[in-house]
Order: sequence, then C-alpha cells, then structure tokens
Amino acid sequence: MNLDFVQSRWAMRGYRLYWRLASLMMIVVGLGSSVEWAAGINLVPDLGGRDMRLTAAFCVLLSGLALAAVGTGRRWIRRLASLLCAIVIGLAANSLLEYSGIGYRGIAAWLDSALGEGLRPSTRMAELAACGFLLLGGQGLLILNGRALVLRELFGLGVLAIAMASLASFAFVLAQHGESLLERLPILTGVLMLLGTLGWMSSVPTTGLTRVSTAATLGGVLARSLLLPALLLPLAYTFAFKLLETRFGVSQIVASTLGAVFTGGSLAWMIWLVAALLDRSERLRDTADTDALTGLGNRRKLDAVLQGLLHADRRQRLPFSLLMLDLDHFKPYNDAFGHQAGDDALREIGRLLRATLRPEDAAFRYGGEEFVLVIHGIHLHQLPAIAERVLHAVRANDWPLRPLTTSIGGAEACDADVSAASLLQRADAALYRAKRNGRDRFEKTGCAECLAGASGPESMRARSWDQPPPGCRAASQA
Ligand code: GH3
Ligand code: MG
Ligand code: MG
Repeated sequence: MNLDFVQSRWAMRGYRLYWRLASLMMIVVGLGSSVEWAAGINLVPDLGGRDMRLTAAFCVLLSGLALAAVGTGRRWIRRLASLLCAIVIGLAANSLLEYSGIGYRGIAAWLDSALGEGLRPSTRMAELAACGFLLLGGQGLLILNGRALVLRELFGLGVLAIAMASLASFAFVLAQHGESLLERLPILTGVLMLLGTLGWMSSVPTTGLTRVSTAATLGGVLARSLLLPALLLPLAYTFAFKLLETRFGVSQIVASTLGAVFTGGSLAWMIWLVAALLDRSERLRDTADTDALTGLGNRRKLDAVLQGLLHADRRQRLPFSLLMLDLDHFKPYNDAFGHQAGDDALREIGRLLRATLRPEDAAFRYGGEEFVLVIHGIHLHQLPAIAERVLHAVRANDWPLRPLTTSIGGAEACDADVSAASLLQRADAALYRAKRNGRDRFEKTGCAECLAGASGPESMRARSWDQPPPGCRAASQA
C-alpha cells in the first residue's frame, strides 16, 4: 500500500485521538478549577504563581463540553454545543467590557460580591484570556455550524498566537530570566486555550489549515513532518538555552552560540527533508514518463511535451518538427528470432536514437516498434538531413542477427496544428509514403497537406501500409 496513504490515515487517527483527549482534558481541568474556586481548595497544580480565574475556568469547561459534541450527528446536541460556545463568547465579551473603563459592572463583579470580595482573587479573567476565549468561542460556533471556513481559521490563529506568546513568556519565567511578559495571563489558561483551538481544528481535520496535513500527497508528507517541529523547536531552544545560562551558569556567548548552531541545524534538517521528498517525487514522475524497455520517454511524456510546445505563447513559440519512425519488416524479424531478440533490437534502437540526436532533441517510444523524435528549431526543409542521419545510424549498425532498417515520416509544426494529433497525423501520412515508396527512406508532409478534422494517427497501429491514413490528401495522392 502507498506509504503516503498509510501516513495520511494515521494522521487522521491522530487528529481524532487528539480532539477527544483535548476535550476531555478541558472538561476535567475546567471542572477542577471551578470546584477549586467554589470550595477554596487547591486541586489543579499552580504552575506560574497565578491561578486561572473562575470565569476562565467556566469558559474552559464549556468549550471542552462543546468540543466533545462536534462529532455527533444529533441536531439538538449540536445546538446545545453552539449555545455553550455562545456563552463562552458572552463571558469573554463581559470581561472585556468590564475592563473597558465605561463603568460596566458585569458577571465577574456580581460573582465577586456574591462570593465575598477580598477572600479570593477576583473572578474576572485577564484581558488577553478574554480575547482568547472570544476567538475560541467564535471558532467553535463556526465549526459546529459549518460556516465561514476562512474566518474560523483566522480565529484559531488568533488563539494560537495568544497561547504561544504566553508559553514563550512562561519559558523565560521558568528560566528565571525576568517577569512573564504576559504577567496577567496564567500559563494554565494559555495551555488550555492552545489545547482548545488545536482541538477544534483537529475535530474537522479535512478542512481548513489541517486539510493539507491529512492528504496522501507530497504536501501532506511535508506538513506532517515539518509543521510541528517548525512551531515548537524555536520555543524549546529559547527555553533550553536560557535555562543553561541562568541555572547552569553557562556564559551568554556559549548559550547564544549553541542556540544558533541548533537552530541552524534544525533548519538544515528541514530543508534536507523537503529536498529528499522533492527528489523522490521527481524520480517517481520520471519512472511514470519513461518507457521501461528502451529508457526513452513514453507516449504519456510525448503528449505532455507536445502540449507544452504547441500551447506556448505564440510570440515565444520556437519552430520544431517531428520525425515518426517505424521499423521495417519487424514482424518477420520477431517471428524468425523470437520476441526476446525483438526486444533487444528495440533496446538497441533506443540507444542509437539517443546517440544520434542532439542533446536538445528528444526521442519517445510511441508504440510497439514506432518512435517519435521531437526536433527543436528545425524547419521542414532542414529535416531530410537529420532523418538521413537516423536512417544511416540504423542501417549501418552492427545488428547481430539480421540487418534492420527503418522508415521515417516528417512534419513541421504549423500554426494550423492546434492539437498534437493533427501534427502527428501529418508525420504519419509521410511515414505511410515512405513505406509505400520502398522503406528505409524519409518522406515529409507540408503544412497544408492534411484535411482538417480527420482523425489522428491513433488508427495507425491497426492499419496496414496498403491503406492511406484517413484525411491526408498528400498520402492519398502518393
Ligand atoms: P512494416 O515494414 O510494414 O512496418 O512491417 P512490420 O512487420 O514492421 O509491421 P508492423 O509495423 O505492423 O509490425 C509490428 C510488429 O512489431 C508486431 C510485433 O511483432 C512487433 N512488436 C511490437 N511491439 C513489440 C515489442 O514490444 N517487442 C517485440 N519484440 N516486438 C514488438
Ligand atoms: Mg508498426
Ligand atoms: Mg514496422
């Protein structure tokens, strides 16, 4: 089974597991913190010298409950979850209004006086926590109702930014290097907001920012391997090297140098991973475009090359011509010496073509013992010289069993060639004449010699050289 596909399935499972764990964690910690407040006890460990406020704990609990309900198909549960998100938005907006200085006394003020001011710190959450929960509630509401994909991801990014800033600033506190930059935002609230917003994103992993990381594509592999390290490593290094400096007495110069070396090393590792993946995908594409027997480009590759050349901007379009080759009397050769010997001869033809053509030109195996050469910068009147070189190379080769020859038809790409099929058709018509006129020779077809709308050379393989190709006046006249 395709490795990328397996990986993508694991990524989906990982997201689902994370989503469930995040909602469970939020419910447990939100409930614990609320009980703590009500009973005046210490249930949840105090990480950064500041407790999560009661209103923030409610928001965490309600967000956790709403998050747990995303997966359900029952409409009334989803409605209830939407209501919980709306309450989170209300609580956060209430806190912001209380801070606004307009004299608004809302829920927190009421709770404070009800619980007895002065006994515990205020129930009012910090300003940044309020901003975070406002966005988190909005993100949940939009996800539950399948609305506004871009807006909900923007809300998620906003929460991420607040939570990551709180983590980074806490790292400095742990490393005993000054005060928290976000002094009023408790680290536990920051961590739970991070859990929550990533939980919301994980609950619908095939949409929005998480979509690419679940895809069984090159982009998916890159996202799965690099996103998390890119997000977390700088944070971890900042913390680790500050800690070395402050706790273990390592000089600032050494700590900074180590930081630079590790950051550079991680960056180099990420670039190497991207390069390795691109290299792998290029090789896979090359394999899909290569004919296994001769090593030349295959029909698929030829189609792509012709599409590119014919559809290039008219002003930038350079002249090019096609040579179409068909080995002479190859069936009797196969019948006489066996299929294996025939295959060896085809391999030899591939080698001869590569050796005869200029580096800028290309040979493709078009079908059984038919080949197409794309000759760049060459007009119709210049084709005989090139075709003669190919005819001579095949004729003069030291064939081990019996001499082989080839017939060649040529055509130059004209303005009228709106499709690759019409160009191939003219080369095919010329090849037909080369066969009719005695084989081991070259013929060409001019721009106006095929009737428009005729079918392409697709029919060639089933056709005998006694029948002219359909639609070509030049061929019928021969
Ligand atoms: P003509 O000069 O008219 O082209 O005569 P021909 O015998 O070459 O006729 P045609 O082009 O129709 O022959 C196709 C033969 O090529 C049929 C088959 O025996 C042989 N052939 C096609 N593909 C392969 C292949 O992959 N390996 C081998 N060994 N033979 C092949
Ligand atoms: Mg043939
Ligand atoms: Mg043939």
